[in-house]
Amino acid sequence: KQTHEKMTEYLDELEFLAYTAGAEVLKRFSQKLERPNPKTFIGTGKMEDVAAYVEQHDVGTVIFDDELTPGQQRNIEALLKCKIVDRTYLILDIFAQRAQTSYARTQVELAQYEYLLPRLVGLWTHLERQRGGIGMRGPGETEIETDRRIVRDRITLLKKKMKTIDKQMSTQRGNRGALVRVALVGYTNVGKSTLMNVISKSKVFAENKLFATLDTTVRKVVIGNLPFLLSDTVGFIRKLPTQLVDSFKSTLDEVREADLLLHVVDISHPQFEDHINAVNKILDEIKSMDKPTLMVFNKIDAYKAEAYDDDDLMVERTGAHYSLEEWKETWMSRTNGDAIFISALNKNNFDSFRKKVYERVREIHVTRFPYNE
Ligand code: GDP
Repeated sequence: KQTHEKMTEYLDELEFLAYTAGAEVLKRFSQKLERPNPKTFIGTGKMEDVAAYVEQHDVGTVIFDDELTPGQQRNIEALLKCKIVDRTYLILDIFAQRAQTSYARTQVELAQYEYLLPRLVGLWTHLERQRGGIGMRGPGETEIETDRRIVRDRITLLKKKMKTIDKQMSTQRGNRGALVRVALVGYTNVGKSTLMNVISKSKVFAENKLFATLDTTVRKVVIGNLPFLLSDTVGFIRKLPTQLVDSFKSTLDEVREADLLLHVVDISHPQFEDHINAVNKILDEIKSMDKPTLMVFNKIDAYKAEAYDDDDLMVERTGAHYSLEEWKETWMSRTNGDAIFISALNKNNFDSFRKKVYERVREIHVTRFPYNE
């Protein structure tokens, strides 16, 4: 039952991603397999179901909730005769749509080309390998080689451009002086931009779509005469394409160089603990797990505990059955008090939040400017 629930939630998220990319979802298919089919990702029977549906409803695109190998993608495309999009491609597509600055555009373009390169495979190359190549050199082959070279050149160029920008951004970060730096991190759509807006009273784009924020926004914030820098970074997501983790180096450097992290969580989301783990995994990858962190549980206004009947022993007590009070206790003890529960929308508990941030920033500030005390 639990895996079924998980699957539904994963597909909810995929549907939300698809919606963000501008697609309308007609139908969902899921299958339980020990491991993905190496040739077609899903099994033969399931593929037939999908194929029948695609044909009947004239479906334009089929989206898979995982990264497909270039081979799988080609095989499935041949079977379904429509556009095949995997999770990585979908996320890259959304990033491409949302990239506002030339920096973000360069990052996304680089990630897209890196995704594309291994997929630029000639129709005949795999046959050639199988049959020894004689007479198999199809007419398309030289074109593909040319395409590959163009893409490789483009990647080299973009990497050079990124290096220059990274250097500029690193200098910019260096020029910000000794102010304490705080970074908002969290799964996508948890309310980071909203929180940024209410703290800094600035207008940052907030929208109920995934990845409204692509570029890092840095604002100078003052709480109780204490100035510090607050940055809002790109939202993290389960299975964030590795190409993106690499190319969003500067964006993630903002996190890496921060003195304090505010890890924002959408507690009203049934999978919020999975989200915390996904974010921690990325923080670990960029070696930022050990930073001082304040867990900010947002959207308490929207939290709904599922009805739980104490006498009903058949109901397994899963996370969603906890009350907000119980979650508070759990996380306060897990984080040694470094957790706070708020609603950025209704500003519930906002004074305590500001006080907590103030205290943590002040601690860091004092170690940096000991003579001002
Ligand atoms: P980000 O992707 O983490 O930057 O998230 P956003 O700030 O763009 O917010 C995502 C969505 O959640 C928006 O529709 C916000 O209005 C909504 N949101 C943000 N904070 C709260 C909150 O405290 N309660 C509720 N109910 N919704 C919120």
